[in-house]
Amino acid sequence: MITAEYLECVGLGQIARKVDHGERLSREDGMLLYEHPDLNAVGYLANQVRERLNGNLAYYNVNQHINPTNVCNKFCKFCAFYRTPRDSDAYALTREQIQARVREKLHEPITEIHMVGGVNPDLPLEYYLDMIRAVHEVRPSVHVKALTMVEVADFAQRTGRSVEAIVRDLKDAGIGSFPGGGAEVMSARLHRLLFPKKIDFHGWLECAKTAHRLGLKSNATMLYGHVETTEEKVAHLLLLREAQDETGGFMTFIPLAFHPENTKLDYLKKATAAEDLRNIAVARLMLDNFPHIKAFWIMITPRVAQIALSYGADDIDGTVTTEEIVHAAGAETSQSLSRRDMVTLIMEAGREPVERDTLYHSIGIDALRAPASPAPRA
Ligand code: SF4
Repeated sequence: MITAEYLECVGLGQIARKVDHGERLSREDGMLLYEHPDLNAVGYLANQVRERLNGNLAYYNVNQHINPTNVCNKFCKFCAFYRTPRDSDAYALTREQIQARVREKLHEPITEIHMVGGVNPDLPLEYYLDMIRAVHEVRPSVHVKALTMVEVADFAQRTGRSVEAIVRDLKDAGIGSFPGGGAEVMSARLHRLLFPKKIDFHGWLECAKTAHRLGLKSNATMLYGHVETTEEKVAHLLLLREAQDETGGFMTFIPLAFHPENTKLDYLKKATAAEDLRNIAVARLMLDNFPHIKAFWIMITPRVAQIALSYGADDIDGTVTTEEIVHAAGAETSQSLSRRDMVTLIMEAGREPVERDTLYHSIGIDALRAPASPAPRA
């Protein structure tokens, strides 16, 4: 059992007192939390914040992923998903193909369609606006969470229009929110080293804040487990916290574990479960103004996601249905889980499952809470 005396004894007393009083943690606190040898003590502190904010609830949603194109001209070194137009397996879904994907799942109670893909220079903004409209034609009430800030910035650059004008067009077409990827780790060094063709973090933050000001919520992610330093991760969290103070537009922070297979960094090892839990716990403690922290089961496996629900996370994402991006980089998890799987995973972890929509409105506790078969072991 972790007590106040124990935390004092292992050098976490001051942070524990700040957590107790709801005080903001500093850069130095973030460094200590990342480097402290007792992961369970860090997790214990994160769990206090998690339970203060979200009680015993753990959220999931019923969603479908569609990746409209894998053609991309950004060539990020950590990416296994992108193709050049000359590759035999390069694709860009047509309007009809997108609608067919949506139609295939019409019998499922999907509330969100999550759409991200490559930055394909041959597809104009109009393709994406029409893609959003096409989804709504088939499934009018679904929430479309689509496009990263990288794509939004690219449209602005290509059309010579402002980010604000692009976001307004997307909103008029029916986009509901933005998923939050693309910033990776907000560091000039890593930008130069790993993804120099994408917008840098100044650009990413400006796009996100513009979207928030226009009334669209977004998430934020951090890709960890490659060549980033602890300082860079803490700086990333602080930049997000500052932006959130300004707009309040972020819903969830999602630490994303790097999967090296089939990437230019394939000599690196995958992050361990301990690293996954540490990133979730530190994020929960540092991002005091983010309502939710997600343990994305696709990235870290359902079994680690279950443990993460006691290390700061209060959300395990959704049923997903055919994920391509992380699986291109060797993720061994299944490509989807049923609603019952999600509920069982959460209940086995001792939490209370709540199905939510994208914006965290509860859509009720349902009959799926009845005991079922054990959770899947991916
Ligand atoms: S991470 Fe995104 S932007 Fe970078 S190469 Fe892959 S698809 Fe393109």
